Amino acid sequence: MSLKEIFCQGKAIDSLQRALAAGRMAHAFIFSGDDGVGKFTTARAWAKMLLCEDRQTISDDPPFTDSCGACHSCQMFDSDGHPDFRPIYKELVQYTKGGKNRKTPIDMPIDVIREFLIDKIANRPTTGQFVVYVMDEAEKVNSSSQNAMLKILEEPPSYCVIILLCSRLDKMLPTTLSRCQLVRFGAVQESRIVERMTAEGIGKTEAVFWARFSQGSLGRALAWAQLEVEPAGAYALKQELIEKIAALELADAVDTAEWMGKTAKKIASAWISKLDNVSTTDITRRAQKGLIRMTACLFSDVMKTHSGQSDALVNLDQTEHITALAQKIDAETAARHVELCYRMHKWVDSSVNEKLIFEQLLLNLANSDILNVF
Ligand SMILES: [Zn+2]
Repeated sequence: MSLKEIFCQGKAIDSLQRALAAGRMAHAFIFSGDDGVGKFTTARAWAKMLLCEDRQTISDDPPFTDSCGACHSCQMFDSDGHPDFRPIYKELVQYTKGGKNRKTPIDMPIDVIREFLIDKIANRPTTGQFVVYVMDEAEKVNSSSQNAMLKILEEPPSYCVIILLCSRLDKMLPTTLSRCQLVRFGAVQESRIVERMTAEGIGKTEAVFWARFSQGSLGRALAWAQLEVEPAGAYALKQELIEKIAALELADAVDTAEWMGKTAKKIASAWISKLDNVSTTDITRRAQKGLIRMTACLFSDVMKTHSGQSDALVNLDQTEHITALAQKIDAETAARHVELCYRMHKWVDSSVNEKLIFEQLLLNLANSDILNVF
């Protein structure tokens, strides 16, 4: 993909282009934004342009330079075989010295940073002017590993470009931030996500749901919509979840909690089967948090119904359940339920037992007046 084909991150690309045109291009960047908004896609396309042997100036005002798509470098890049484009991700741990059969951890291992970045930084480009390193999930680099990277972020060799992709700027040390040029990636507009998803063959109603559910993250919306999970995909599971929660009684709470636990496992294994050597804990947490977020969206829809914002519902496809629920609970109760969901979301990251999380959630939702433990 070239820079001009990236349709939803104009501002971020514009700031990169202006710096390049003015001869002020940094050698260490942080691309900051939510997961799935296009940080990696942009980093790839930017690297492809930097490595291209025949860069094309598409416009001078505003400046826009792109890769040619035809030279030897572009061809190597498009076949994922460019020796000077070096993605760094935690799954590389199994290729580190002594890392064979090591499972991918939650944090970025220092061995990966040392062997794939720090020790390689003195290697000059194989073909062109630059070597581009792109580190995924830089928010998972702990403080001591960030300290180990400071020297190369401070003074990278002139042929190096280092791009850290980061979804949580608060996890980065001030010393790391001060050494990098920050490029912010905003949320993608809902209409663009829907346009892209329908072009992939996803129905419009479903596309609107995933776009709103994903809050401007095209990558996340597509990952959910295209998940091959039994029996009929993640969208059918979401509809089942909304039906169950909207009709929830105290007597069903434990069974429904068990269903959520099993469903999270099913979703996680569908994801794991599509990806290579990923952290199982990461993916399982992502699935659990997804189901909790769907529940939160249901109650925030109830709040919207009470305040007359029916057009803004996430679950526009299941308005009958939202309306019925809005007749049973007031806006204040719905707000308490949303807050409860976010508390459970945090419990997932704190490694609380999954069964306990879903049971607490469902028991509290089913009867918040009796079981008001929070
Ligand atoms: Zn080229």
